[in-house]
Amino acid sequence: MRYSFCFTLLFFICFNCAETTKTSENENTTTNDFKTNTETKAEFAIIIHGGAGTILKKNMTPEKEAAYKAKLEEAIRVGYEILKQGGSSIDAVQLAINVMEDSPLFNAGKGAVYTNAETNELDASIMDGKTLNAGASAGTTTVRNPINLARIIMDKSPHVMMAGVGAETYAKEQNLAIVEPSYFYTENRLNSVKRAKEREKIELDHDDKTAFFDAEIQNYKFGTVGCAALDKDGNLAAGTSTGGMTNKRYGRVGDAPIIGAGTYANNNSCAVSSTGWGEYFIRAMVAHDISALMQYKGLSLKEAAQEVIQKKVPELGGDGGIVAVDKHGNMVAEFNTSGMYRASMNAKGELTIGIYKE
Ligand code: ASP
Repeated sequence: MRYSFCFTLLFFICFNCAETTKTSENENTTTNDFKTNTETKAEFAIIIHGGAGTILKKNMTPEKEAAYKAKLEEAIRVGYEILKQGGSSIDAVQLAINVMEDSPLFNAGKGAVYTNAETNELDASIMDGKTLNAGASAGTTTVRNPINLARIIMDKSPHVMMAGVGAETYAKEQNLAIVEPSYFYTENRLNSVKRAKEREKIELDHDDKTAFFDAEIQNYKFGTVGCAALDKDGNLAAGTSTGGMTNKRYGRVGDAPIIGAGTYANNNSCAVSSTGWGEYFIRAMVAHDISALMQYKGLSLKEAAQEVIQKKVPELGGDGGIVAVDKHGNMVAEFNTSGMYRASMNAKGELTIGIYKE
């Protein structure tokens, strides 16, 4: 009798503990409802973004929304298949990003935004969480897939970052796909920069101050693509590729090619890819800060991402978001803008796609 009472009590305690754990785990993943594997270490995981910004349902047609979702799904499935077959997270990151770079929908590769001089200058970076090796390129105008250049700089050169003409020379030497600058022409991106310049001119005429960071123009600065992944060997990797910010000038380089700001990966913590107002993401060292909060302060990925994206960046005056995966396969998409194109897949093959704040 006494034994059966003890057993019942024990069962009741255990059941309650299990329930509490489940609830708090669910709470940890509420903001972006990604189906991460929180109970045991996930075998592998992948998460991508196609840029954060003022993305409102009222401004979106069903066709446009469907096109974004289809491209996000295509990209993530490419990365997922690599991971499922036992491939490396660095390959999954690179090839998932290639799909988005080749689409005019995103501000990277083909769809890159225009500078003030109506040219396209592209930035990218990639990082391997196992070795802490990294590669980055900035301000290229003829390299079709800048993430491939970042990768080859990481793998084959003694350097981490190359810029401009030198980076292009290296890309040619390495037989990467080179295109005419006109390859990056898209009518709507060109119209965007023309509108931004027009607005800037009107404002300058009226107030005699630069409108470079005008709230309206800010909305033209998003659309970068990125990916973070964990492979079956427990290796993390992240990468980011962008055309930067519409109407940028003076050789402006954003956060995307800056290791620690736009991209960071460390097997001891997490892999992160950023998108947002680059000047602030550089100053806040967003991607590395998230990793450091986990490594040195013991925060969970969700807590660290919230600390940086919901507090640190907005307090400085910036906006944007990140996607990240930790060494256990937990995934997070955190943003302080009205939307962020994003998708994730866990080891069970469960796909989540999001655009707006849900
Ligand atoms: N972070 C990028 C930049 O500032 C822009 C973006 O994320 O869309 O260059």
